[in-house]
Amino acid sequence: MSNKREHALDTKLIHFGSEVDAHTGAASVPIYQASTFHHHDIYNPPVHDYSRSGNPTRQALEDYIAVLEGGARGLAFSTGMAAISTTFMLLSSGDHVIVTEDVYGGTYRLLTTILNRLQIETTFVDMTQLDAVKAAIQPNTKAVYMETPSNPTLKITDIYAIATWAKDNGLISIVDNTFMTPYYQRPIELGVDIVLHSATKFLGGHSDVLAGLAVAATTELGQQLKYLQNGLGTVLGAQDSWLLIRGMKTLGARMAHSEISARKLAAWLDSREDVPSVYYPGLSNHPGREVQERQSTGFGAVVSFDVGSADRAKKLLNQVKLPIVAVSLGAVESILSYPPMMSHASMPAEVRQERGITDGLLRFSVGLEDIDDLIADLEQALNHSKS
Ligand SMILES: *Cc1c(COP(=O)(O)O)cnc(C)c1O
Repeated sequence: MSNKREHALDTKLIHFGSEVDAHTGAASVPIYQASTFHHHDIYNPPVHDYSRSGNPTRQALEDYIAVLEGGARGLAFSTGMAAISTTFMLLSSGDHVIVTEDVYGGTYRLLTTILNRLQIETTFVDMTQLDAVKAAIQPNTKAVYMETPSNPTLKITDIYAIATWAKDNGLISIVDNTFMTPYYQRPIELGVDIVLHSATKFLGGHSDVLAGLAVAATTELGQQLKYLQNGLGTVLGAQDSWLLIRGMKTLGARMAHSEISARKLAAWLDSREDVPSVYYPGLSNHPGREVQERQSTGFGAVVSFDVGSADRAKKLLNQVKLPIVAVSLGAVESILSYPPMMSHASMPAEVRQERGITDGLLRFSVGLEDIDDLIADLEQALNHSKS
């Protein structure tokens, strides 16, 4: 053991390696807005020669997320879906993957309408049931893909249990860590091979940039992902890389503030007779609470709740004044979504019902507003939407 104390995440968010420019001392990573790089000496090619293959601003971001997740290598992509689709290109025709049944809608679409054409086969299972995951294995299974908490009903998967089983069976384990971020959950420390993010959400945090990130636990997997990122060309540009770095510096402060508010909001909603169900892993009656407490240091800033009917949900959406009514989550402003008409509109109604995505379900991503103002606003909207 070295006697150098490892920094806490709050410190790593500020001191991540390239926070000061080595050439000038500038207190921010420069934006290298260049597609190509001059060879000063043809016998000694530059470190970066073309920005699809490598760009110093993107590199700073990639090293940053690797530090935060505790992985060997980070990679930055143009969107969360670019990170996810590039990662699935680790698989080949004829391979099989086990995926959580309430996976993000875009990932579901990728697997069921695009990758299926390449003979990549998927089995969707309820990942809260380890036995169901084990039962889904086939001779051609290559990977297991988790998302926890899931969206929008916030079910919790036991990351360590599944990653350990995956390792024993020679499978690559992957976690979409968008909802928790490394601030609350670091899957690589629990044995996972690859962590993915839609950095468009909490990591960026300001509803102003689309981006995706991947972190590989090992150098080998990192090299494979790097090869795919360059080969497919799914990279993040220099400007957006810089914007994301800027957003990520305040991740800790934003998450901590929003989470305290989310806990209050969930408790308040839970106490109301006219709100039939509330989904938040921090509530004592949440079935995944124990696992969540074991594998994460917080419960996050997303609260889902059912107001009883589609009619009431729509009235409420037209009545709220503070949150923006929109797709997406994880920003400084609160975002209220209506999954049945937004993120999960393409899912057949029966499948939605089965997965608990009822017609009265709303998803509240808590921002940085004063929580009493948010609750007062929601209270007037709830009262005005009673039929
Ligand atoms: C938004 C989201 C994605 C997709 O990310 P984009 O940046 O929109 O491509 C993937 N997974 C989760 C959990 C998300 O919320």
